[in-house]
Amino acid sequence: MDINQLARAEIVAMKPYASARSSASADGILLNANESPTTHVDEPAWQHLSLNRYPSPQPPTLKKRLAEIYQVEPANLLITRGSDEGIDLLLRVFCRAGEDAIVECSPCFGMYRIAATIQNARVIDVPRAASNGFKIDFEQLLKTINQETGIKLVFLTSPNNPTGDLITEDQLQAVLAACRDKALVVLDEAYIEFCEDQSAPSLIKQWPNLVVLRTLSKAWAAAGLRCGSVIADPAVIALLQRVIAPYPLASTVVDAALRSVSSEANLAKERFVRSVSGRRELLYAFLSTCDAVETFWNSEANFVLLKVADAPGLTAWCAEHGIRIRDFSTQPGLQGCVRVTIGSEAEMVELTNTLQSYADKIRT
Ligand code: PMP
Repeated sequence: MDINQLARAEIVAMKPYASARSSASADGILLNANESPTTHVDEPAWQHLSLNRYPSPQPPTLKKRLAEIYQVEPANLLITRGSDEGIDLLLRVFCRAGEDAIVECSPCFGMYRIAATIQNARVIDVPRAASNGFKIDFEQLLKTINQETGIKLVFLTSPNNPTGDLITEDQLQAVLAACRDKALVVLDEAYIEFCEDQSAPSLIKQWPNLVVLRTLSKAWAAAGLRCGSVIADPAVIALLQRVIAPYPLASTVVDAALRSVSSEANLAKERFVRSVSGRRELLYAFLSTCDAVETFWNSEANFVLLKVADAPGLTAWCAEHGIRIRDFSTQPGLQGCVRVTIGSEAEMVELTNTLQSYADKIRT
């Protein structure tokens, strides 16, 4: 498949902006970027950042480390300002406004639809049903891909937010086969570290229409960095690179990102993932005994979706007790649903006490 045939013709034809740092070495006397020769911040701890200089557009050391973590080649990876930016870039590169479409399987992460709407791309939804454990209706999804025209991106999320379910490799391969030569399958693995499932980047060699999104915001505990990765065939990466801002990654972010993915941080991440799974089990045990909870769905991620009679009432009760949970009840298919993140041990004690006090209140 020629990926360029899928992309917007203007993006393929455009001569991309060549920034100073991308078109010349950063060694020697730098008089090519209208920077200051020195920084005005004179604290020693900041000197290594060279804040007076534009950063590398894609810092090689960080790229190499992320590629090692995700087990791909650096050429398969674009570092972005969170996965949010990866989603936005994909929409802008592949969807012609007013003509092309994306597919999503709601309920799912809200930014696919937002990025599509901003680009004026159509959103084709293949909704999931609570009665079916929110599993994707793959038969309907494949039918939609075969019948509809103009589909450029099919968004799948594994584990899915907010339902917490996984997609199997067979299901993914069936969608990849249906999309062969006509659309990219974007597999958002923001939460994949929380489960034992094998991440999908190894499939990219076999499937050049597969794009995987990973992030440092969840298990790597670095949401403040805004650092995500798009992992794909080098032809897809080259197209996205034409559209991303010339210097998307601040020097401070790159410095902090390298610390956040060090081998010590990796051990901490593994401990965190195990502890989240333990606290998620404890939460399930509590939820199954709590009368205020009608049902909850098993999750492979660091959150649990649950259903109650009055989701805004519960959300307000928690807020009065200083706990923020997310009310999803106005979203299609999520009537009565709230999502809670697995927090620290102390936070989960507060949460369960507050859920219990809510249950006691509505009972009386
Ligand atoms: N994908 C999913 C499924 C998410 O839930 C989120 C954030 N909640 C994102 C992507 C965005 O992540 P990032 O912080 O990397 O932009």
